[in-house]
Amino acid sequence: MTLGIGDIVAAAGVLLGLNYVALFIAAYLFDRSARHLLWYLAGAGAFIGSSAAYVMTEIAPYHGLFFILDDVLVCTGFLLVSKGVCAHARLPVPGRMFAMTAITGAFVITALAPLGELSLARLTAVSLFQVALPIMVVVRLYRLPVISARTRFLTTMLSAVILSVLIRPLVAAWAAGHGALSPAEQAELYGTYAATPFAATLFAFAGTIFFLAMSDLAATYRQASLTDSLTGLFNRRGFLDEGNRLAARPAALIMLDIDNFKAINDTHGHDQGDRVIAGVASVIAAAAPRPHLCGRLGGEEFAIFVSRAELPVATALAQAIRVSIETDLRDIMPDGRPVTASLGVAAIGDDGLAGALIAADHALYDAKEAGRNQVRIAGETGQGRASRAGGRRSA
Ligand code: GH3
Ligand code: MG
Ligand code: MG
Repeated sequence: MTLGIGDIVAAAGVLLGLNYVALFIAAYLFDRSARHLLWYLAGAGAFIGSSAAYVMTEIAPYHGLFFILDDVLVCTGFLLVSKGVCAHARLPVPGRMFAMTAITGAFVITALAPLGELSLARLTAVSLFQVALPIMVVVRLYRLPVISARTRFLTTMLSAVILSVLIRPLVAAWAAGHGALSPAEQAELYGTYAATPFAATLFAFAGTIFFLAMSDLAATYRQASLTDSLTGLFNRRGFLDEGNRLAARPAALIMLDIDNFKAINDTHGHDQGDRVIAGVASVIAAAAPRPHLCGRLGGEEFAIFVSRAELPVATALAQAIRVSIETDLRDIMPDGRPVTASLGVAAIGDDGLAGALIAADHALYDAKEAGRNQVRIAGETGQGRASRAGGRRSA
């Protein structure tokens, strides 16, 4: 028994692979909707098994058997990983093609095993079968009309793994060209230069998958932290974050507060109150799509960042929203009472979003004072300023 560099790489692969298994499990436990991680996990298991089988060819009898096991497990690993990539990129899985390739591959691997480790014919056929499915997946991914940078990255890394398998017959031919070496030494040379690129690209690919899984997770949590779960609009934090980032000028801000909302809650219960909040939110979202921003700042209070609009345009939008709430939500109350809202509008000027929030809030209070269900523009009356300053929070 002689352990060459190829065997050491394979043994290191088993250990590194186990680490990846742990990482994939951890990533899956964080986000159980990431089911592609399960395919990757199973694929990692198959590759670990293949590395172990490769090492076993050196230390155990039944040499040929372990060779077959190694090749079959690599084939299986690629099959599972290809399924994972399909799930990851939301590609339909060509099931029949997968099954056919797997069965034929296993048959070819077993039938050609007697040709010996360095047989060019065997290595060419086996390598082609092992990467047939990943090649198919890569071709499908490149053919997609739109391919994201992330998917392109994943595809490139998978292509590198495929390449490291396809060069194996060339490495074998090169090793066999060293006539002065014994067959065992040639096999060791082949092992070194075939196993190392395969292991390196495979681990780079696994690292890519893990990185993508983690960044998916971060994006999901970031999205959740900026979104109001009842309405799907931005929450206060999301609205302020996005609004402060939007440099589009001119711009205006609308603040909206549902009228006599406490009475709705008190009379019909909190669930009915929530339905009204969600109803008002959908009216707002429909009236002010992107590039405008809609947020629920708290309770039954909303804000709309009106992008690239002067005050008159924003005021007209506020009026339209006020009317829509009254008419579109006509049937939302069990007792048929109308839902109304009061709105305040302010231009976003030198004081930025924070200044506009205070100004629009004052205007909103003027609208409440004036009898509710109306729109007021900041600075036009100014009466609300003193009475609201202490009573309401500002941005
Ligand atoms: P006004 O016309 O002056 O705005 O009167 P109002 O009754 O709407 O104002 P007020 O601020 O007194 O009442 C707001 C109520 O909204 C109080 C609170 O219990 C309720 N509320 C806050 N958040 C939620 C929520 O998420 N769901 C429901 N159902 N009620 C909420
Ligand atoms: Mg209210
Ligand atoms: Mg309120």
